[in-house]
Amino acid sequence: MPVIANGLDIEARDAITVTTAIFGATQVVRTEFGARRPALALFRPKSFPASEAPAGVAPRVVEVQAVIRECHRRARVLERSTEVAAGPRLEDAEVVVSGGRGLQGPSSFELLREVAELLHGAVGASRAVVDAGWVPYSLQVGQTGKTVKPTIYIACGISGAMQHTVGMRGAQTIVAINTDPQAPIFKLADLGIVGDALTVLRQLRDELRSRPG
Ligand SMILES: Cc1cc2nc3c(=O)[nH]c(=O)nc-3n(C[C@H](O)[C@H](O)[C@H](O)COP(=O)(O)OP(=O)(O)OC[C@H]3O[C@@H](n4cnc5c(N)ncnc54)[C@H](O)[C@@H]3O)c2cc1C
Repeated sequence: MPVIANGLDIEARDAITVTTAIFGATQVVRTEFGARRPALALFRPKSFPASEAPAGVAPRVVEVQAVIRECHRRARVLERSTEVAAGPRLEDAEVVVSGGRGLQGPSSFELLREVAELLHGAVGASRAVVDAGWVPYSLQVGQTGKTVKPTIYIACGISGAMQHTVGMRGAQTIVAINTDPQAPIFKLADLGIVGDALTVLRQLRDELRSRPG
């Protein structure tokens, strides 16, 4: 059975074509399935909005028996851990407040959490800060992290590398706070603030706290 994974988009007209991204999301590949059916395409969550099935059309569910012989099991589960989560899931949040290396250190994420909580949102992060061990991988947004589509995405101290923006460019409104007016994130932002992210976040937190309700 032909299989393609990590898809970003699909077109199903005469032929079925799946879009994926490679080389750090710098190249887009469109792969057309041949005539063999069934074919299996797996998509990154939130790549596109789910559409209603046309009236009277129900998907056919086919049960497939998958027998995996012991000698073919290369991966083993060594450990399971559950993270304690508060607030909405990053993938489902209407507001995402994300931090990058411009936040200077892991302790700044406490401020990010406060702002996210006041906005009933979730905290996200760039890979640079995940790799630095400031926050867990579960917060990473981007090509090798999660794809988010919130109503508002606030990027704080994030440069806007392609591998990050591929995971958040679908947000309805993007707000960027960065000290560098030339940062690539400003090309994508609906609202850009040139300034120190921590100063702006503190002002935002105080303003939100002062509002009733
Ligand atoms: C194969 C591959 C996959 C990748 N996948 C991902 C991914 O999934 N997600 C991801 O995020 N990255 C990913 N990356 C990494 C990506 O290329 C960038 O390196 C990363 O996104 C940079 O993170 P950053 O913006 O936090 O850091 P930087 O690029 O270092 O940017 C920091 C920004 O902070 C600004 N700044 C500095 N001080 C302040 C301040 N006081 N206030 C405000 N702004 C300030 C700077 O001007 C700068 O723009 C991947 C890379 C590769 C090669």
